[in-house]
Amino acid sequence: MGRVRGDPVTTAREDELIVAETFGPTFQGEGPSAGQQAVFIRLSRCNLSCGTHTSASWACDTPYTWDWKRFDPKDPEVARRESVGALLAWALSLPPRLVVLTGGEPMLQWRGLERLAVGLRAAGREVEVETNGTLVPRPTLVEAVTAFNVSPKLAAAGDSERRRIVPDALASLARCGKARFKFVVNHLGELDEIAALARRFALREVWVMPEGTTAGAVLDGLRAVAEETLARGWHLSTRQHVLIWGDERGR
Ligand code: SF4
Repeated sequence: MGRVRGDPVTTAREDELIVAETFGPTFQGEGPSAGQQAVFIRLSRCNLSCGTHTSASWACDTPYTWDWKRFDPKDPEVARRESVGALLAWALSLPPRLVVLTGGEPMLQWRGLERLAVGLRAAGREVEVETNGTLVPRPTLVEAVTAFNVSPKLAAAGDSERRRIVPDALASLARCGKARFKFVVNHLGELDEIAALARRFALREVWVMPEGTTAGAVLDGLRAVAEETLARGWHLSTRQHVLIWGDERGR
């Protein structure tokens, strides 16, 4: 993974965040809240590198948050520092009740993330944090969020199991009572891998979501896994934003 030398992300000031993009109002496109009006704050940086290994069979759809072989983190179109106050003011100036804090991996910037989540909840907003499930959430963040949308990565993402499956983090998220677990799949065989993780970490709310950056690919994926997902007692997520807007950025 191409982390920036001297990357200050883990020591970023608690009153600022490194942001890739903000957008909305739009719809939450995935998971249990799909279809709800929302605004999105996408933080820069990730601790995984999905899709860059030869063993990978799908690619990260937000490589501009972390892949410095392809994107320049000094380019303000790629990453910029914003104060928590400015981000709060922006989100609160817009009508949607739901604010989605996503990445990259937003929990890398836990200090600023906590401040932002606490401020949004104090103002009456619903807050979803989207995470890859490799970092243990601190109690302040657990208290502040409405829900964690946890998306643990399967072998097809290409990173080693040691990097993508962090037992303490997954167990902690499973215990906190606010997490739903959404797995990106591109073939039926991956459902057994999900079942093993669900058993191992006592995951209660499992969602399966087909990979795809075109409406056709998402529909084919939904059809391929629907019956088996139903039979296993899990939920099925579409990618509504892809069905409507394809892979247009900022949607
Ligand atoms: S965890 Fe998410 S943002 Fe990070 S590399 Fe994987 S798909 Fe991309």
